[in-house]
Amino acid sequence: MQFKDIEGQYTIANKLTEIIDLGRVSHAQLFLGDTKDGSLALAMAYVQYLFCQNRQHYEDGRPLRADSCGQCPSCKKIHNLSHSDLHLFFPSATTDKIKSNPSSADFQQEFRDFMGKYRQHGTINQWYDFLGVDNKQGMIREKDADNLVKELGITSYEGRYKVVIIWMADKMNITMANKILKNLEEPSPQTLIILVAESTEKILPTIISRTQLVRIPALHGARTDVNPQYYSLFVTWMRQLFKLNMSTLSAWVDSIHALGREQQKMFLLFAQDALRECFLRNNANLPMNIDFGDEKFNAMFPTMITPRNIERLNNAFDEAIFAIERNAYAKIAFMQLSFNISKGLKNR
Ligand SMILES: [Zn+2]
Repeated sequence: MQFKDIEGQYTIANKLTEIIDLGRVSHAQLFLGDTKDGSLALAMAYVQYLFCQNRQHYEDGRPLRADSCGQCPSCKKIHNLSHSDLHLFFPSATTDKIKSNPSSADFQQEFRDFMGKYRQHGTINQWYDFLGVDNKQGMIREKDADNLVKELGITSYEGRYKVVIIWMADKMNITMANKILKNLEEPSPQTLIILVAESTEKILPTIISRTQLVRIPALHGARTDVNPQYYSLFVTWMRQLFKLNMSTLSAWVDSIHALGREQQKMFLLFAQDALRECFLRNNANLPMNIDFGDEKFNAMFPTMITPRNIERLNNAFDEAIFAIERNAYAKIAFMQLSFNISKGLKNR
């Protein structure tokens, strides 16, 4: 998979190639987002770029700044899921073929076919249908854990890295989860573990806290269900952050606290998206898709979002969304985020 084929996700693709180009590859990452939005495809493209022998960089201002070549032997092997340093784990269940003790190793060919059929965007239910497991729930189990330990004990065949991708990491049973945790605590050298999950609910918090989070933006219906109240909430909030008046900020945080967790998360995703729009408008001269309902704010605010602070602001939002999803106390999460944004807006 090349990044160019993952439509709508070039922003995150640029972030991922930058991580590799700057040599900041973390030994454990969590790609959090729906498979249909490209979470698995992005993980695959990331590994392909990492292994590529002829990485491409585009300096001509196109939205995608870098990609794997798609032609070299490494790229081809990753694309075919036949690279000996890439190990894939995913949920499995008993089928007509495997009647007991199923594991990912039993279904490698089926998984290749499934990845090809759905261009790496197939959902978990499509996978179960593809396998013909009827109504059984897939899991990543003991035998997978044993195989993982075996694979991690072998040094890399071709490249500098061995990569383990665990698709639907929230379906790991406790044995598998503990094996992963052990590896995160004492990482094997030159090993990358990439967890791909659609939700963090069923993943051990101790695993989550040891992985670098890569949040995959939702592509489907992202902007359609925006609550009209969000625009004025955002404008009020940003204005307070310039002045950092504690008493008005604390009243604002109380009002957001009252919205409830799901709305808080939706608002944060909206606000993060709004900042990205402002950045593009200010730095790439793209038209804004957001009208904050205040002309002065529409004209002035985007100029505050620059190449110097966009990354920091974006990360601050990632952290806050992550905290809210994990049931952190909302008032504290929003207060912390407010301080981070305020600092970011000053250092532009
Ligand atoms: Zn290549």
